[in-house]
Amino acid sequence: MQTLNADVLIVGAGIIGASAAYFLSRQGKRVLLCDAGQSGTKASGVNFGGVRRQGRPLVQMPLAARSHVLWSRLSELIGIDGEYIRSGHLKVAFTPGDLERLKQYNAMVATCGLDLQLLDDADVRRRYPWLGPELAGASLCPEDGHANPRLVSPALAWAAQQAGAVLMEHCRITRSHFDGTHFVSDTADGRRIRSACLVNAAGAWAGTIAQMFGDAVPLGEIYPQMGVTEPLPPIMNVVVGVQGGGLYARQVARGNIIFGGSRARSVDPGFARPSHQSVSLLLTRLAGLIPGIANASVIRFWSGVEGATPDLNPILGASATIPGLFHGFGYSGAGFQVGLASGEVLAQLIVSGASPIPIDAFRIDRFAADSGKLHTPSSHAGKRNTDEISISK
Ligand SMILES: Cc1cc2nc3c(=O)[nH]c(=O)nc-3n(C[C@H](O)[C@H](O)[C@H](O)COP(=O)(O)OP(=O)(O)OC[C@H]3O[C@@H](n4cnc5c(N)ncnc54)[C@H](O)[C@@H]3O)c2cc1C
Repeated sequence: MQTLNADVLIVGAGIIGASAAYFLSRQGKRVLLCDAGQSGTKASGVNFGGVRRQGRPLVQMPLAARSHVLWSRLSELIGIDGEYIRSGHLKVAFTPGDLERLKQYNAMVATCGLDLQLLDDADVRRRYPWLGPELAGASLCPEDGHANPRLVSPALAWAAQQAGAVLMEHCRITRSHFDGTHFVSDTADGRRIRSACLVNAAGAWAGTIAQMFGDAVPLGEIYPQMGVTEPLPPIMNVVVGVQGGGLYARQVARGNIIFGGSRARSVDPGFARPSHQSVSLLLTRLAGLIPGIANASVIRFWSGVEGATPDLNPILGASATIPGLFHGFGYSGAGFQVGLASGEVLAQLIVSGASPIPIDAFRIDRFAADSGKLHTPSSHAGKRNTDEISISK
């Protein structure tokens, strides 16, 4: 059996694993970045592309703020602009009650640097005449925006390689244990990897890796439903989300409008497909929000698989059981924006033993009392009804 040695083995080359690989390699660590498939093709490559801080819980703000800085340096980090645009993110309210909730949120995050602007219904009609007439108001975050995940996430894995990481694609980790000094991990194609540290960035599949070390977590799966229209004349000058969830949309430079907000379904564990119900729900909501595109042709629908935790916050930090083991997963539909900073945090934990960003709210052992729902890889027991979770973008 071939044995490979590394300072750090990273399981999963999505945005979290690739970012960790990038920052670790830049600091001289020998990194093996393994993916069961191809880098950046799971959640990190198929997501909506929303790069937004608005709407996140307060505990995520320091991480989102650091990512905001890293996104501003995206071209320097990954060598391409990734179609990243700070278009602004507009969260609309259909009812006075929802507008009140936006006001409360804005007050809660007032010191977080989002510069949120509350707009009444007249402001919204004047500034965004392409939105439907039924709105009570909105909140604008001028520096939030969007990017192309199909470009950004694989390019980050490429940048990690340029920095010295070794990327091993089609390399599934099937077994791993800690022998007292090192992690010994076996791959499906018969190789063995010895590493001083191990980063579990396996996305929706990370519960299986965590469980190999006794770090059981109640990780569920969600399948956000996505669609894209034919190219249309420029109409949207901002990314739009809805208070309370249910719809989000953005228009790219080529004219296509990308949208999401309902939930697809899982056909097999680890795979998701659009459903008639999720597609028709989404189309109805889209025509209500942007009436001018009600007759546009939709050229593609898709979905993806994302790991979700009960409190919708990620698991980010050291293992509760094994020294040298670190987790970064469970982003619950919102890991694209915070992905860059999450990888940096994982690298800082490994290199210096501490994170300059508060991550206590993301400890893996915060669910210890929730033992009834712990992830069981074979039974899919952590899976939740996808409609229970309304992620507001
Ligand atoms: C449809 C959709 C829309 C979304 N929209 C947004 C959005 O607009 N904004 C936002 O911020 N977030 C969004 N998200 C969430 C965001 O995409 C994810 O939180 C983020 O990409 C998670 O990154 P990851 O690296 O943890 O996971 P992934 O990208 O899923 O990567 C995990 C990788 O681990 C690999 N892997 C798994 N098991 C093993 C193993 N045993 N051995 C080796 N490799 C393994 C997989 O092959 C995979 O490539 C969305 C997600 C989806 C699915």
